[in-house]
Amino acid sequence: MNGTSVLNACELEIDLFCRGMRVPAEVSLEGARGVSRTRAGLGSGLEVVLPAASAFQKDIWVNVPVAERFATRSPYRLTGGPTDGYAIVDERTSHAYAARLPARPRWYSRLTSRDVPMERIGQLQGTYLGIYINPLCAFWNYSPALNCRFCTTGQNVGTTEAADKPVSDVIDTCRAAQDESGVTFVHLNGGFQGSRGLEFAIPYVRTIKRDVGMLVGLQLAPEPAFARYDALIAAGVDHLSFCLELLDPEWFARICPGKQRMHGQQLFIDAMTHCVARMPRGAVSGEIIAGIEPIERTLEAIDLITGLGAFPTVCIFRPTIGSDMEDWPSPSYEDMRRVMAHVYESCRRHWLPIGAAPNIEVSLVVNPDDASMLAEPSVGHYAYEAFRRFVKVVSRPVFAHRMRPYARA
Ligand code: SF4
Repeated sequence: MNGTSVLNACELEIDLFCRGMRVPAEVSLEGARGVSRTRAGLGSGLEVVLPAASAFQKDIWVNVPVAERFATRSPYRLTGGPTDGYAIVDERTSHAYAARLPARPRWYSRLTSRDVPMERIGQLQGTYLGIYINPLCAFWNYSPALNCRFCTTGQNVGTTEAADKPVSDVIDTCRAAQDESGVTFVHLNGGFQGSRGLEFAIPYVRTIKRDVGMLVGLQLAPEPAFARYDALIAAGVDHLSFCLELLDPEWFARICPGKQRMHGQQLFIDAMTHCVARMPRGAVSGEIIAGIEPIERTLEAIDLITGLGAFPTVCIFRPTIGSDMEDWPSPSYEDMRRVMAHVYESCRRHWLPIGAAPNIEVSLVVNPDDASMLAEPSVGHYAYEAFRRFVKVVSRPVFAHRMRPYARA
């Protein structure tokens, strides 16, 4: 970026992830979702919506870093307020981008049937509900700890989040999020749990599918007993994601010592391959973090994931306060724009049906379909966009069926 250009919504999303935003004390955030640090520690920001610029675009949801050191030096500044609306001013250009702060859901402070505030069970991240279901990721229990170096889950579970989340609390929270916030997708995760993680998740998946009827995603450390993935698929899981994080073996070992010691990279790839062969196209994803290892390896990782038939979910590295990497620099906009453009192109080359599921906007990452705004106009691009629209329309009844609670069917 040359300091004078006006960015499109996806470019702005990327730049906000890389540079963060300042929120002056006089700007009221009343009624907005609070800044919370939840789940796998990459979220610590303010939830912001960049409204669609035309009928052909969509709103972009972004969890903007505001607490980290790099954000205090950001050229972006939030202005306005809850009554007249907000804008994000880029002080390099004086351009003001329209922005909306999604409201804090009323159900956050309601209690589950066990008297636990629902926001301690799950939180909205964009338009979906995120719930960390398992006990604390076991990598934090080793001495010295084997946690992934960018992660802060060890500081969240049991403090900002309830340590114990029985199925009944999760069901109460899913129902509230569905009824009052129109949520269609719940994403369950839980870090490393030895060989018990997948089995532990099955009753959650089965009960949500039976009693609530949302789409359910699951993200856990890979386990070599692949029959457990078959059991999860039989229980109705709609989406499985695998956090490979980094492709370069040396960076993987350095940043993810637990994953290196307990799994190795190949297990992630094998588990992904197993699930891709058994689930509908577009139902499996591979997660990586961009901005730590050399960029060429990130591009290679994206191609590896799409080549398997999964779609890449790429987090832009955030040096979250309290993590072992809090003093690391955030990545450059130019590099991350290149990565996200590659995500879209790689999905296009493999005709992956990105963005087909209803109302799933993830605020912690640049969604692969957000990155369509980065594509150069070409016949291939327009053909893929037509294909994506076609898939979205024809898959509507499929998703409607999958979101029907079995108990009420
Ligand atoms: S596996 Fe790594 S990223 Fe996931 S919760 Fe554990 S330490 Fe955090």
